[in-house]
Amino acid sequence: MSREEIRENVFDVVIIGGGPAGLTAGLYAARADLRTLCIEGGSTVSQISVTDLVENYPGIEAIGGFDLVDRMRSQAVRFGARFTSGDVVSVEKERIGDVDGWSVKTAGDNFTTLAVIAATGANWRKLGVVGEEAFIGKGVSFCATCDGPFYRDREVVVVGGGDTAVQEALYLTRFAKKVTIVHRRDRLRATSVLREQASKNEKIEFAWNAVVSEILGEQSVKGVRLQNTRNPGDVKEIRADGIFIFVGLVPNTGFLEGVVKLDPQGYIVTDDHMQTSAKGVFACGDCTRKLLRQVVTACGDGATAAVAAQHYVEELKGIAYK
Ligand code: NAP
Repeated sequence: MSREEIRENVFDVVIIGGGPAGLTAGLYAARADLRTLCIEGGSTVSQISVTDLVENYPGIEAIGGFDLVDRMRSQAVRFGARFTSGDVVSVEKERIGDVDGWSVKTAGDNFTTLAVIAATGANWRKLGVVGEEAFIGKGVSFCATCDGPFYRDREVVVVGGGDTAVQEALYLTRFAKKVTIVHRRDRLRATSVLREQASKNEKIEFAWNAVVSEILGEQSVKGVRLQNTRNPGDVKEIRADGIFIFVGLVPNTGFLEGVVKLDPQGYIVTDDHMQTSAKGVFACGDCTRKLLRQVVTACGDGATAAVAAQHYVEELKGIAYK
């Protein structure tokens, strides 16, 4: 491929993912004059776009998740980022002239780029029970930080026995008058400090050896049906205004297996420049190994990834500021 063809056909950076991390990376990369392509998921939506209200993004008192993402997208477009949609199936090395680049494939397209930013997010692990999909945003939530304040003086159920479930249940006690933790075993998986805090908290009750078999309601959640894991015939219903499901997250990183280092849970391991184990591949947002998965941290990661990718691309082109 000639230099001319490279200029015409090769992107400086291809960003995979259309959530806050990817859109911020898109904004920063395009604004830095990189030839930027954002690939939004073909069959997935960003978690934030289904979040009813965001009240903890600094400087914005309250905004619908969809509106926030829509604004970020418009801003990236204004600076020249191009968009397409499709589920990425592979990221492979590709020699571009005399430098190493990458080929990003979707079912129908193949994009050549000098750098890649993975911003594919994570999906909540779901229970797969009746009512779960139907009541998302109407009582079913996967984020206590986002939705907890809507349950002031109300009764909620938290599903799961890990650190997230217990930590979020404790957080929910700030608002709710009663929090019932439903766990499929007879003890919590969560670390002892959290276990102890939960057992001492007067607002928290436990439903042990139980799984949610159905989420009940009409316009919104009214309760859950629980099934005993030791005696499946033992079924009962409990009243609840909301159900918070914390049974783990599933990062959308399957297409990067063998390309970059993933941790045992499948999250992408990066350094503090959002560089992955593969040169020229950066990652940001919820698909990475990190402490806090929020819009604000996704945006910060996205900006860092774009600037790191910019420096990388400028080095490759021999135009870096030394
Ligand atoms: P996790 O540790 O994988 O726990 C998931 C919980 O959900 C487990 O109790 C599991 O039950 C339960 N579960 C899974 N699938 C289920 C299903 N279909 N129905 C009912 N229950 C189901 O996930 P996590 O709590 O999100 O934590 C993820 C990682 O982040 C962990 O390494 C954790 O230590 C870390 N983390 C740490 C902190 C902290 O240090 N403060 C806070 C949050 C997260 P079983 O126990 O039976 O498997």
